[in-house]
Amino acid sequence: VTIGRFLADIAARHQDNEALVVPHQGVRWTYAELDARVSRLAARLLALGLQPGDRVGIWSQNCAEWVLVQFATARAGLVLVNINPAYRRSELEYVLGKVQCAALILAPSFKASDYLAIVNAVVPELRHSSPGQLQADKLPQLRHVIRLGAERTPGMHNFDELLALPDAQQQAALAALEATLQFDDAVNIQFTSGTTGAPKGATLTHHNILNNGFFVGEAMRLTERDRLCIPVPLYHCFGMVLGNLACVTHGATMVFPGESFEPAAVLATVQAERCTGLHGVPTMFIGMLDHPDFASYDLSTLRTGIMAGSPCPAEVMSRVIERMHLTEITIAYGMTETSPVSFQSSVDDPVHLRVSTIGRVHPHLEVKIVDGDGRIVPRGVKGELLTRGYSVMLGYWGDEEQTRDTIDAARWLHTGDLAVLDAQGFASIVGRAKDMVIRGGENIYPREIEEFLYRHPKVQDVQCVGVPDAKYGEELCACIIVRPGMTADEDEIRAFCQDQIARYKIPRYIRFVPAFPMTVTGKIQKYLLRQQVATDLG
Ligand code: ATP
Ligand code: MG
Repeated sequence: VTIGRFLADIAARHQDNEALVVPHQGVRWTYAELDARVSRLAARLLALGLQPGDRVGIWSQNCAEWVLVQFATARAGLVLVNINPAYRRSELEYVLGKVQCAALILAPSFKASDYLAIVNAVVPELRHSSPGQLQADKLPQLRHVIRLGAERTPGMHNFDELLALPDAQQQAALAALEATLQFDDAVNIQFTSGTTGAPKGATLTHHNILNNGFFVGEAMRLTERDRLCIPVPLYHCFGMVLGNLACVTHGATMVFPGESFEPAAVLATVQAERCTGLHGVPTMFIGMLDHPDFASYDLSTLRTGIMAGSPCPAEVMSRVIERMHLTEITIAYGMTETSPVSFQSSVDDPVHLRVSTIGRVHPHLEVKIVDGDGRIVPRGVKGELLTRGYSVMLGYWGDEEQTRDTIDAARWLHTGDLAVLDAQGFASIVGRAKDMVIRGGENIYPREIEEFLYRHPKVQDVQCVGVPDAKYGEELCACIIVRPGMTADEDEIRAFCQDQIARYKIPRYIRFVPAFPMTVTGKIQKYLLRQQVATDLG
């Protein structure tokens, strides 16, 4: 089934249930209202001359319209391209150049001066074109720019006005078109976070993401009575699939606490909207728990939620369970290329496993852990995690070579993550394959050394990377951010390691740094850190 049909069915069953609540926009739409708006927008997109398979980019923070665009593009057979709102000129050019969007939808909240400068730079023809229509040579496929919100901008369509136009004729065309769409058509191009290199555009189908959203919701035991607070970004699969699609497949209510993450706004929204669920990456939960007013919010309605996106420290999980009333919260593991979730803990798992592992494999997926030669390793042994099944992307958009490097002939997707499975099937992520350091034939897992060094009282944050070495192939370098107001020297860090960890794992180099290179979503880019260290060490 396609996403458009699924929404129509759900809307018929849960008509009067709230589908979407966005307090700061004054939005409270029932499923019937959401479905009606989605149909209207889908019809309008067709009326603009957009054809099935055309790409439509959305470059915006979280807002109610995002949901309309997500479902209307699916219903009209278009391919939604999620663009990170933090991107600026060169990143936008990279994305638009790679994917060739026919239409681009822009956030309401960018200040006109902010984004016009950017858009003008990317699409200079915009200034000279008639409203809505572009004659661009640089981006020949880009025909329409649509601005969200009330303001009018020359050369752009206004979203609200577009939505308000009469659409009787297009509705018939839309119904005819929808009947031709297939569940394995592309519906979404999601860019990866860019943690290990330039972001890659994963092409995902209706079948991929709709099913993944459904199984995530099942693991959370969502029902139409649930109200899920979604502070994670919609331009990323966490918000769009684990948030929106998990809710819609269960008739539950999506609640957006703001355009981007603000701890106090999230806590206030959970209280005011009596949310039963809350998603977040580990740093978001830390931000809420450590907020000075944390204790003043009533979070007693909370039950479930997901922590995911990067390694989830057991200590943070335990605090969330005990102090935020999130008794049924689970950890999920996944990647953009697998729609995204492939492992998730279950409410029924013992608490010590729920806080320390990523749980067991999701329904209808196969996984294996292999060594460097592709042989399956015994349980308890580390290796690269491979996944196969319905959730594996079609491929990277316009990049067959990279697709072949990632999905092998037997359709196994190579995650690039190192993992270990225990006898009961619980998995733990031990690091990324690209980050593993091989020193004189011995594997060193940077994450293990980082976790050890975190215990040093002067260490605020630490990242370990490999640097080329003539004798051993690679040597380990620890890059340390010292706690504010403290100083540390190499000898005391080395003394701390002595007799605590194996000699070959003690970092040969120790550097004190002010910060690490990060993606706009807050993930540490080890590949850049590794380059910096290699250059520094000559
Ligand atoms: P890029 O592929 O562009 O380098 P990325 O891999 O960070 O960036 P995403 O697809 O957003 O892009 O993130 C997926 C990765 O995030 C996984 O491969 C894994 O390394 C990490 N990750 C996700 N969830 C977890 C988790 N629960 N525990 C540990 N790591 C996780
Ligand atoms: Mg990746």
